[in-house]
Amino acid sequence: MERLNSYFRKKRYIMYLITTFMIMVIPFIKINGNQIFLLSFDKKQLHLLGVVFDMQELYVMPFLLITLFVGIFFLTTLAGRIWCGWACPHTIFRVIYRDIIETKILGLRKSIENKQINPDLSTGINKFKKILGILIWFILSLIAASNFLFYFVPPNDFFAYMSDYHNHMVLFIFLVAITEFLTLEIAFVGENFCIYVCPYCRVQSVLYDNDTKTIIYDSKRGSAVYKNGTLLDKKEIDGECIACNKCVRVCPTHIDIRKGLQLECINCLECADACSSVMDKLKKKTLISWSSTNALLNNNKVRYFRGKTIGYILVIAIALTIAITLSHNKSSMLLNINRTTESYKILENGEIENHYIMLFQNTDNKPHTYYFKVLDNPNLEITRPLEPFTLKAGEKAKKRVFLKTIEQSNAISNASKDAIIPIKIMAYAIDDEKINITKESIFVYPQ
Ligand code: SF4
Ligand code: SF4
Repeated sequence: MERLNSYFRKKRYIMYLITTFMIMVIPFIKINGNQIFLLSFDKKQLHLLGVVFDMQELYVMPFLLITLFVGIFFLTTLAGRIWCGWACPHTIFRVIYRDIIETKILGLRKSIENKQINPDLSTGINKFKKILGILIWFILSLIAASNFLFYFVPPNDFFAYMSDYHNHMVLFIFLVAITEFLTLEIAFVGENFCIYVCPYCRVQSVLYDNDTKTIIYDSKRGSAVYKNGTLLDKKEIDGECIACNKCVRVCPTHIDIRKGLQLECINCLECADACSSVMDKLKKKTLISWSSTNALLNNNKVRYFRGKTIGYILVIAIALTIAITLSHNKSSMLLNINRTTESYKILENGEIENHYIMLFQNTDNKPHTYYFKVLDNPNLEITRPLEPFTLKAGEKAKKRVFLKTIEQSNAISNASKDAIIPIKIMAYAIDDEKINITKESIFVYPQ
């Protein structure tokens, strides 16, 4: 049969496969030994595209959050709830559970074309199939929950912790709780989650405009099928809609798109496919299409580029550029210098000594050996520690550092009347001269 209309189910399934594959594989891909994305509460680190950020370096986070939120606004303004229908894990899980496990494998449901009839659980065999379906889904939920946790605990650590779960109870409880939540939610709550729980469902309607691409019933051709909220009889419908109800039966959220756009619609386009199959037989164009109100009214193409969407693209581009620049310029070392409570110490030979506590952290992904020097003041020397020290990747260290005057008279050459001499201390990696930080402090001298 010649097809006049486009069908979306196959394309959507391909998108589901790509999304699932990417979500499963990303935690295992490493760049410079670091994950593409990892938010580790354990190690207090964020990995982003192979760059490691310590908790003190999360200045990149606001720009990522701006990108995320503005990205959601952009996508919704552009194409409505496309995320829900095409890439949301909940929708993918429901397709796996309802359409593959319950319908195709176990035959508990008659057809994926009718999602309005719940499985008949009055017979023993069907009860058994239902339990079997939940058990299969439970195993898949366990895999999905583990995969989700890989974004917070690296896979290698995750498996090591789980083989010794008595000592990692928090992670174990999270794994069990997420698995149980997914099992019960997908098997029993279903699309009610999208309608009543998901916060995205609440905000999306305010982001729509008449150019937003969404699922839409052509009431000009098909005619209105509701009058004062009541469904008209087949004979009363004065248009091309033949009231076959295929679009209603296939809808996973149990709505009738012919009523107009509704909050419950997840943009899965199942109804468009259903109507296309009917209209193809009649050699007509589908009455339910993926278009925009303006495009349908004016019979032209959807306007993707308009003020709002261009504005969102600009904000995303700016936030991303800042985030990438910050990650490029990220320091490979952190340093804090604090003075001890003692102002100074007069040594036996009259020299003056000041004590400092330096907090080092190697934020690079490889070990480095560090030492430090006093800049622009040849009259001060380091008396402790005398040897450089090595820190492993991510390791922190607290060092007591002693500075003393080389010669009493010279030490205050330019500040003879001052009790406080400003100094600059530079800490650096002796194996990589690019890694260095200079901090200002003071050297206190008796009046
Ligand atoms: S009306 Fe129902 S079937 Fe159609 S896109 Fe929305 S959720 Fe999917
Ligand atoms: S599938 Fe098309 S023809 Fe059938 S009821 Fe829905 S809109 Fe009307």
